[in-house]
Amino acid sequence: MDIQELITRPSSEQRKALLNKEVSDVELVNAVYERIDAVEDKIGAYNSLTKELALETAKLVDEKIKNGEELPPLAGIPLALKDNINYKGTYTTASSKILENFVSPYDATASKKLKENLIPVIGKANCDEFAMGSSNENSAFKIVRNPWNLNKVPGGSSGGSAAAIAAGEATISLGSETGGSVRLPASFCGLVGLKPTYGRVSRYGLIAFASSLDQIGPFGRNVEDVALLLNVIAGHDEHDSTSLNVPVPDYVQGLRNDLKGVKVGYIKELCSDGLQSEVAASIQKTLEIYKSLGAEIVEISLPLIKYSVGVYYIIATAEASSNLARFDGVKYGYRTKNPENLYDMYIKTRAEGFGDEVKRRIMLGTYALSSGYYDAYYKKAQQVRRLVKNDFDNAFSKVDVLVSPTCPYTAFDIGSKVQDPLSMYLTDIATITANLAGIPALNVPVGLDSNGMPIGVQLLANSLNETKLLNLAFMLEDVVQFKYDTPSKMLVK
Ligand code: GLN
Repeated sequence: MDIQELITRPSSEQRKALLNKEVSDVELVNAVYERIDAVEDKIGAYNSLTKELALETAKLVDEKIKNGEELPPLAGIPLALKDNINYKGTYTTASSKILENFVSPYDATASKKLKENLIPVIGKANCDEFAMGSSNENSAFKIVRNPWNLNKVPGGSSGGSAAAIAAGEATISLGSETGGSVRLPASFCGLVGLKPTYGRVSRYGLIAFASSLDQIGPFGRNVEDVALLLNVIAGHDEHDSTSLNVPVPDYVQGLRNDLKGVKVGYIKELCSDGLQSEVAASIQKTLEIYKSLGAEIVEISLPLIKYSVGVYYIIATAEASSNLARFDGVKYGYRTKNPENLYDMYIKTRAEGFGDEVKRRIMLGTYALSSGYYDAYYKKAQQVRRLVKNDFDNAFSKVDVLVSPTCPYTAFDIGSKVQDPLSMYLTDIATITANLAGIPALNVPVGLDSNGMPIGVQLLANSLNETKLLNLAFMLEDVVQFKYDTPSKMLVK
């Protein structure tokens, strides 16, 4: 296979070519950089490239292959790392001007694990500033374009992590989730993307947005790649007190289990009104596939889901207003020129360093936490959050997995929602609840709409049930046979 084609395939094919010595890893990684030279101008998936580091890792992989040593399953597979995850010696900007020249002095735990598994990091992927957004139009540096149609958004906030794979500029990637930021771009770009159970993956070294919701998650061209990457990053970490101290199963093992007797629920409130008709049809098709594979289909009502977006935008902004207090021009990054005094320095640094959406979140969150309003907003939101979790507990006593659209519609036009934050926030209506409840959820691409844009289905499972989730996703993918490499072919034509 031609190497430019090989880089658009899933990791299993690339690994085979490496182990059979058809290509070296240095050649594979260089081929990805050639591809980046050819298409990145149109896409904008990366904030910075880390070529020297990637080639160092690739050389190590080649050395081991030459010596006949065992290689970890994803060794040598090109990865894009979201630019809010620290990787020692690289720029880590969270797509914000306030961190424009910040170089990571240490590795996030996820990054450390990438290194231990000899996974070359191609570059730091563009995202919405501090992961706040649903379209990747909030990056301080440049927007990301959807490789399926350059006039459409790739979804956010991990838009670069998704677009990089769809455009053939990486094979796998890591993003982060607070309210859907892996699943939404996966849905808009025709990829598999997973938000793990809260605490399954260490948050150490991930720039905090809303600490009770944040979680790092993997993207891939297929379910197997996502399972393999979850194997790499999952596990307890003494540096993160919210990481769970429970054993990590092998997520690849259970992929092919048959679905006889499995109960699949569809979420009534998310599968009825307000859906693009082709999205609604895809849900029906998905349920029929599961039925034909032996699963039982059940309707599940989650009546509190309608409060999720409201609850999320109180809790997430409250936590963000506190987390982002650290960016004050003293400890990190950008500092205003010629301030009059210390107070003036704080004010001007933050006014000049943060973008509009980040400022909006800080103001909303500060308001929700202020005395006199705390009980009415923040406390109330926490109470409703608990009730949302109860709804899920109840649902998972009846079914193994829940199904819904990942988003009510497919990728929208660049610029079409920037003036209307509320409509932008509502894009996350189907994804946000999983973050509030701490449960795992993923996106599987299942088809295209009449404009040729990918449609994604969301699967949700109970806490720590990633194995079941990936199993159901794998079985669906096997029937659907989604053509994930369409955009990488179109882009070089
Ligand atoms: N779109 C949501 C927000 O802007 C979720 C972002 C995320 O998951 N990081 O807050």
